[in-house]
Amino acid sequence: MSAIAKIEPIPIAYPDPNDFGTIRRTVLVRVETEDGIVGWGECIAMWPEACKAVATVISQGLLPQLRGDRADDIDIAWEKMRRHVWWYGEGGIASLAISGVDMALWDIAGKIADKPLYELFGGLKHKRLPANASSHVNKKGEAACVAEVVDFFEAGFVSCKLGFAKKGESNIGGDPDTDVNFIRALRHALGDEAGILVDIGNGVRWDVDTAISVANRMGEYNIGWYEEPLYPTDDAGYKKLAANTKVRIASGEREFTEAGYRRQMELGAVEVFGVDPARVEGITGFRRVDALASRFNKIINAHAWSTAITSAASLHLSLASPNTEIFEFKPFDVVVQNELVEERVWHRDGWAYPLEGSGLGIEVREDVVRRLAEQ
Ligand SMILES: [Mg+2]
Repeated sequence: MSAIAKIEPIPIAYPDPNDFGTIRRTVLVRVETEDGIVGWGECIAMWPEACKAVATVISQGLLPQLRGDRADDIDIAWEKMRRHVWWYGEGGIASLAISGVDMALWDIAGKIADKPLYELFGGLKHKRLPANASSHVNKKGEAACVAEVVDFFEAGFVSCKLGFAKKGESNIGGDPDTDVNFIRALRHALGDEAGILVDIGNGVRWDVDTAISVANRMGEYNIGWYEEPLYPTDDAGYKKLAANTKVRIASGEREFTEAGYRRQMELGAVEVFGVDPARVEGITGFRRVDALASRFNKIINAHAWSTAITSAASLHLSLASPNTEIFEFKPFDVVVQNELVEERVWHRDGWAYPLEGSGLGIEVREDVVRRLAEQ
């Protein structure tokens, strides 16, 4: 039996070239068993104060609960963590904290079983998934923004998901005509086969009628989905939008729990649900949402926009899920993808293939973790 000996939350900071070198933050979690097996997880807390809070919940709340327990008895550990945070949990900081610990325990369970995680999830449902470049549209002028995406396809990607109204010099994101013109120019530049997914996102505030009109105008250029054009909890807005467009609506990445996803699936407006194992109470939480998606006949999509640890977890989960269509990558080199692990989690010829090592199937470089760690 491998008992849990240590759980160490490690807040890190790094510049992200996918966002003009903006400093991003997250919390890595290192779990070690008494017999020396190490597993890694991540809590995608992002804000400095949230990273500190997550680290406190883990070291002062979750570690005392789990120390000495079997590392590979994950259902029991997950329930124990949820019961501990009952008063302040069901979302937020507590869900982020549970996520990182749960992910690291799954990594250890895979290492004990000497199997890649997708095998512990019931095996592959896809041999591979199309590689999607997920980027922020942030260059100056439409031509530069189109050219950047064309470069992604020339580098091998077969699909793109484009976040609007992000930091940078772009005026795309907010004005309906500007945004529709961009999608039209992009479709013409990329041809009919290219996957184009539109992520309107948090920076845009449209009323429902504008969101409907933009959906239908962009729909003429065959976009794969239309993500978060309205505030995520605007249930009435999403219902009206879904009733007035044939374009698939995506949302969900702001949910934290299975209960939140179930509520949205019962509402029935959203077809594609963003899910992040570093947020939704871990790999265990992700699998519960995946099971719901099967029941409600919905698509799920791993958010996968942070470190290689979350990318690896998301890749195993996505390839083992019957409900996924693509796999997202950050197209620009970033230290938490390229240097954090010995072998980069990356596509081959436009496809994401399974990682075959045991557990998460990555080797985390502790020297890089310590270099990025915030005091
Ligand atoms: Mg999004």
